[in-house]
Formats: sequence, C-alpha cells, structure tokens
Amino acid sequence: MASGARELSGQEWTGRAAALEPEGRAWIGGRYREAVSGRRFQTISPRDGGVISEVAECDAADVDLAVETARTAFEDGRWSGKAPAERKEVLLRLAGLIEDNLEELALVESLDVGKPIGDALSVDVPGAAGYFRWFAEAIDKRYGEVAPTGAGSLALITREPFGVVAAVVPWNYPLIITAWKAAPALATGNSVVLKPAEQSPLSALILGRLAAEAGVPEGVFNVVPGYGPTAGAALGRHPGVDKLTFTGSTEVGKAFLGYAGESNMKSVSLECGGKSPQVVLADVPDLKEAASSIAWGIFYNAGQTCHAGSRLIVDRAVKDDLLHEISKLAEGMHPKDPLDTTAKMGAVVNAEQLDRVLGYVEVGKREGASLAVGGGRVLRESGGFYVEPTIFEGVGREMRIANEEIFGPVLSVLDFGDEREAISLANATKYGLAASVWTSDITRAHRAAKALRAGTVWVNSFDASDATVPFGGFGESGYGRDKSLHALEQYEQLKTTWIELPDDQR
Ligand code: NAD
Repeated sequence: MASGARELSGQEWTGRAAALEPEGRAWIGGRYREAVSGRRFQTISPRDGGVISEVAECDAADVDLAVETARTAFEDGRWSGKAPAERKEVLLRLAGLIEDNLEELALVESLDVGKPIGDALSVDVPGAAGYFRWFAEAIDKRYGEVAPTGAGSLALITREPFGVVAAVVPWNYPLIITAWKAAPALATGNSVVLKPAEQSPLSALILGRLAAEAGVPEGVFNVVPGYGPTAGAALGRHPGVDKLTFTGSTEVGKAFLGYAGESNMKSVSLECGGKSPQVVLADVPDLKEAASSIAWGIFYNAGQTCHAGSRLIVDRAVKDDLLHEISKLAEGMHPKDPLDTTAKMGAVVNAEQLDRVLGYVEVGKREGASLAVGGGRVLRESGGFYVEPTIFEGVGREMRIANEEIFGPVLSVLDFGDEREAISLANATKYGLAASVWTSDITRAHRAAKALRAGTVWVNSFDASDATVPFGGFGESGYGRDKSLHALEQYEQLKTTWIELPDDQR
C-alpha cells in the first residue's frame, strides 16, 4: 500500500478523500476517548472549505487527565526505565509503521492543511518517519561523562529525562514538527502530551495508534486536540508538565514564557516566526539556479514555512535579470487542488490565513511597493482558499511587508548597492531563523555568513536540510534547537553525582 500510494491519480485521491472517516477522538492512556466535556469541533479542509470531520475539543480537564496519565507512566518506569536499546527498537518500529501508513497519513495531511499530496507523500510523511528513525538510532550511542576532578573524588555527569514533556505544535508541517519534538523526547525516556494545532489534528491522532502498535507503552504518548487558549494554555500552566516545547508564532511563544513563570517555571523551548532574507550579491554563481532556489524558498507550502525566504535582498546590478527568472517560475507555480498530483502549490490553511495574506497585499500597495506578480485570490469557485504567488518590488526597509511575517506566498524585494548595505538590510529584523547568501567569492561567503544573525545560513542554496544539523532561531525566532544530537539536550537534565574516595592509605 505504501509504495502504491505514489502511483494514485488525482481522481483516485479524490475518491479516497470522499471515503475517509478519520479518527477524531483524543488519544490518552493508550486508547481513544471523547473530550471530558463531550464537545467536538469541526476540522475544515482549505481545499474546498468543506468539513473533513469532527474532533474532540480537549480543554483543561483533558489536559489534567493526559498529564496525570503521562506522569504515572513516567514514574513507574514502563518507558523511562527501559534500556536505550529497547526504546530504540520500539521507535524504529514506529518509523516503519509511519511509512507503512503513507497513504492515510499523506491524505489527512493534505486535506487538513491544503498542501499538495505529492509533497505530503514525498516530504512530510517520509520526513517524519526519518526523524523517528534517526533519533532512535542515536539514543543507544551516547555516553555520560566523568569530570576531571581531583584524585579524592569521582564525579559523574549523567543525563536524565525531564519527566512529562508537553509539545504544542503549529499547522504548517503537522507531522514533521511533531516528529521533531516527539522523537527526541521519547528517545530520551520522557512521557509526552502532544497538542496539535486546531487546524491540523488528524495526523497526530493516527500517530497515537501507530505508537501503541509499535510498542510505546500506554500513557507514554498522548494527544489532546483542542484550541490554543484552552488546551494549549492548560499545558503551559500545568504544574505537572516539566518541559514545554513549542513551535508557532512569536506572540504565542511569549505567552508560553508567561505561563511557565506563572506556574512551575517549567523549562521552555521555542521555535517561532521568521522573516528570512535571501541575499544575492552581484557575483551570484548561477542566476537561474539561484532564481529556482529563491522561488521555492518562498512559495513552497504556499509560503507557510517559518523560515520561508520572504525577503529577497538583491544587488541592483542583477536585480532585473533575477526577478525576470523568479517571475517566470512563479507563473508555473499557480495554485491547484492539493489532491491534483501535479500541484506545486495548494491552498493556504484557512479563511483567516487567506484574509491575512490578502490584507498584507493591500498593505504593500498602500505603502507604495510595486506589485510585480500575483496578489489575488484564485480558484474561488472551489470554495477553498488559494492565493497566487506574489512578488512586491521596490520595498522599503521601513515597510510592514519588509518586517512582519506574512506567512503566505509573498516575496518582498529590496535592493542594495554594496555588501555592507545588504547585511544591514538582512539583519534589520527582530527575527533570526534563517538566511541565505549567494556569491562566487568564498571570502565574501564566509564574511556574510558570519555577519548574518540567524540560526541557519545557507551559502548558494536555500532550505537544504538534514536530520544531522540543528534548526532554530536567534532573536525573537526563539531558542532551543530541533533536529540533530543537540535536540536531545532539550529533553534531558544534567545530573552530577559526586562520590568521595577517601584515601585510606594516607
Ligand atoms: P500559533 O502560534 O497561532 O499556534 C501554534 C500552536 O499554539 C497551536 O497548537 C495553537 O493552538 C497554540 N496556541 C495558540 N494560541 C495559544 C495560546 N494563547 N496559548 C497556548 N497555546 C496557543 O501558530 P500557527 O498559526 O499555528 O503557526 C504559524 C506560526 O508558527 C508562524 O509564526 C510560523 O513562523 C511559526 N512556525 C515556526 C517554526 C519554527 O521552527 N521556528 C516552524 C513552523 C511554524
């Protein structure tokens, strides 16, 4: 079934979508259950504005139950007490099960958030499986430390899981970002309570079942779908949560810092927004290649990517040629039904996001930027929420479209005369998630990479990615790192055990 999914036609996917009956109940203590209140909310597909299904609307009462269940599981050692090699085997099985369920997972992901089915099949689902596999493989290959104290003592530095980890995630890459959090948190022996975004709860609910099938003991992995200000805030404030890992907007990230301060001072890691610059110097090695990378860097996932390269900062000497190439590519990315297997761009996540993006298009026009490409809603007759790839030229550094995260397929183009000005423009942001620089000169590349304030700097590429490298932000893009061995550090505390060794020969 897994490989066959890649062969299905758009029509076959549409048929499968019509027949879909996704699980909508919360996953707590190794079983599906309705919300304590009995309330449900509708999950809507941005593909056509239709209801996909109803989902349990968890709130503080469900969060209490899930945290208590997770705590009991942690304390009795059913998972935390297992040898790393045993946890590894279970998580490897989970990775395999995610791959085996490619068709179902890709379909709900595409329907829930409007991303092209081809991307869900080739990126989101295999990507999530890959992260579970990578962290599973890593966990039985790490050692503790012995500190270089004097001869009269032995000081051990060991790592211990936090206990109960709450993960609150956004809707743009529901499954992948869940894997970024849940895989290292589980690998290190924690119990997890996951709150998916209200726009995209379905893949997480499937993951609960698959985790149990893989052998994750009951109560160790729990999923509480619900709204941010209720279920999300309840996790943030819960005294039984030891660690909170969040990906989402900067505004809500700041709220989580407040929740932690008001409650038990839980450790908080934040992956927040971005306004990433793509800096093109006049000696860009290959203009066409740069254009393609820059276009994908902003238009992939309809621009709903935290590190989307939403600011193009380009030398005036190459600006016109580069924009000509990017504009041609933008035309070829016209949005389509996400279940059309040829779609490169699907819908934006909901009506609110559509209004937000179109609102920024109006802001850009009012501010005096020049709308070079797109800017409109398309496929209105579908009932879905589709925006054209959009490019603004002549953007000034003070304009809102140069500073605020739009989270849609909108590229703001700023130009410069020299390298110093380019770096100053690139760093003129409160965010610092990612940046790129395009140049043929290795010295300039290093100089720029050092000067750019961002968690990731790509040289002559954009969005190159691998499980082995940390991902996270500077400034108001947050702190803490997902991916790589460094991600494991977020889910562990260091313990020092000091043993006195009196010398009885003295
Ligand atoms: P959001 O901040 O609105 O929501 C994220 C999560 O927080 C959701 O689960 C939501 O229910 C919950 N939430 C919302 N309000 C809350 C509140 N008051 N209290 C507690 N929880 C609350 O973000 P979004 O709209 O889902 O996602 C888009 C944002 O996420 C963008 O800003 C984007 O840049 C960011 N993002 C960052 C990364 C990264 O790795 N840095 C990755 C993806 C998305």
